[in-house]
Amino acid sequence: MSPRDLSRPDFGITFLAMKTFPSFYRLPVAQFPWSSLITSLILLAASTSCSPRPEESRTEPFGVFLGLETAKLWHEVEARYGRPLRTERPSELETNAEAVVTDDGTPVIRIRESVAPTEVRIAHELLHLQMVSEGFVYSIEPRFSSASVTAENLALFRRTAEVVHNGVLHWMFYPKLRSMGMNPSEEFGGQLAETFFVKASAADAMTEQDLALNFFKASLEIDDPEIPERLAAHYLANGWQRSLDTGRAMAESVTNSRPDSPQRELDVFLACMNRLFKETAAFSVLGQRTQPRGAIQVLTVTVSVGRKR
Ligand SMILES: [Zn+2]
Repeated sequence: MSPRDLSRPDFGITFLAMKTFPSFYRLPVAQFPWSSLITSLILLAASTSCSPRPEESRTEPFGVFLGLETAKLWHEVEARYGRPLRTERPSELETNAEAVVTDDGTPVIRIRESVAPTEVRIAHELLHLQMVSEGFVYSIEPRFSSASVTAENLALFRRTAEVVHNGVLHWMFYPKLRSMGMNPSEEFGGQLAETFFVKASAADAMTEQDLALNFFKASLEIDDPEIPERLAAHYLANGWQRSLDTGRAMAESVTNSRPDSPQRELDVFLACMNRLFKETAAFSVLGQRTQPRGAIQVLTVTVSVGRKR
């Protein structure tokens, strides 16, 4: 099987589960200068994934024994897609784990070879696949109006949109993982503590937007309300008030609107992006299309990115 068999979303939303920490959350310096003149950008697909090695065993995928509820979820996903789930352990992957749907509608879970496969990672990706099959957004592609696309801006959109979109999705399905007896934010909680309270200099290197995104993610994904409170105090003590306000407003737009449908998911995604970049860019939906893939349809949304003056 070649990587070409797999259609990966070009922009956005490759269902990260737990990214490696600092590299991801420390986004490039963000000035958002949408200059120059390219209107659309389906370049940079950079699918460097190397022939992944399929792993077998239906009962113990990735060699992990699944609890009853996760096994049930696994079977539900297979039933929904009408075909067996495929597992892969690529040696290189941008994220620790991801879920994708191939052109023929095969659901695939990939876990990077260097990270331990765990039940919570598998269940996490299963829930992403389930939501895709229920019509939630699979991929978000930007169109920069009358503007500009530097590699930096593209990367910034891609990574930011991924954190924001996943924050919304995780807010929707983490309660389910918790009800299954797992702790979906254990890894992120540890990374957060390490970055902000152990090696505090790592956080000093972050942009205002990174700081806002981390607060947003902590507020939505971590169960223990003490952690965002402690983080808020830390932000104030460091003079990061604007980031705190932004991250908090973004998280509140999710918790207040309580998204439970693809349309509301998208509305709240846009509200968050507009809040995060309110001084430099404006985001709106340009178009939506559903594409049949095997037994399901995937929803791709095109978002227009305009410059604010
Ligand atoms: Zn995820």
